[in-house]
Amino acid sequence: MTDFIEYGSKRIDFRLEYSDRRTLGITVTPDLDVLVKAPVDTAINVIKERLRKKAPWIIRQLSFFLSFQPRLTDRKFIGGETHLYLGKQYRLKVISYELGVMSGDSVKLKGQFLEVHTGKKDKVKELVEEWYLDKAKVRFHEIAEPLFNSFTSKYNLSLITYHLSLRQMPTRWGSCTAKGRIILNPELIKAPKACIEYVIVHELCHLIHHDHTQKFLDLQTREMPEWEKWKNKLERLLA
Ligand SMILES: [Zn+2]
Repeated sequence: MTDFIEYGSKRIDFRLEYSDRRTLGITVTPDLDVLVKAPVDTAINVIKERLRKKAPWIIRQLSFFLSFQPRLTDRKFIGGETHLYLGKQYRLKVISYELGVMSGDSVKLKGQFLEVHTGKKDKVKELVEEWYLDKAKVRFHEIAEPLFNSFTSKYNLSLITYHLSLRQMPTRWGSCTAKGRIILNPELIKAPKACIEYVIVHELCHLIHHDHTQKFLDLQTREMPEWEKWKNKLERLLA
């Protein structure tokens, strides 16, 4: 069941599960869910009282997680505009077909430019987005697979097999299922490689710790000592 408490001006929604346990447990999942596990027969007002006491901690956990949600930029896809790829800026150059010349639509990097060849100006956005997605598919695998392999062998997670997929997520950079399936937001292809590595390392660390406790942070620091720098960079970059 779901319910909520009010704390100051904030409303905290939570999911409640009764189970055969002795103590009440509160976790904030990477999906921004507040999950409460309570012993059978715990009164709801007791649960809410406990949540109110833990509210500052819950809010800290939620905002920690919110702090690396992507803010998608507004682009018009017209010539001269700058677009990011792996942390570098490229200027968009739209080259229209000449009348009567047969040619296919294409997008490519050329020096400082992101060149789009097309017969239809209103197709530029679609072509650039397709190009980003194609690049993301290739580059994310190149970055994620070695990280996954070394992490899982180091921590004896040999039962988990590598699986990476891409999903447009308005509020997340990445996620990782309990089975080790890594899901990345294709928008990350605009960020420097180290930012992409940071998101992947963060998700891999969730294979061991499911929340953002100190233990999680210690593990993340061990795996990527400079993670904070790349997290900050990621936040600034796409703001
Ligand atoms: Zn996380």
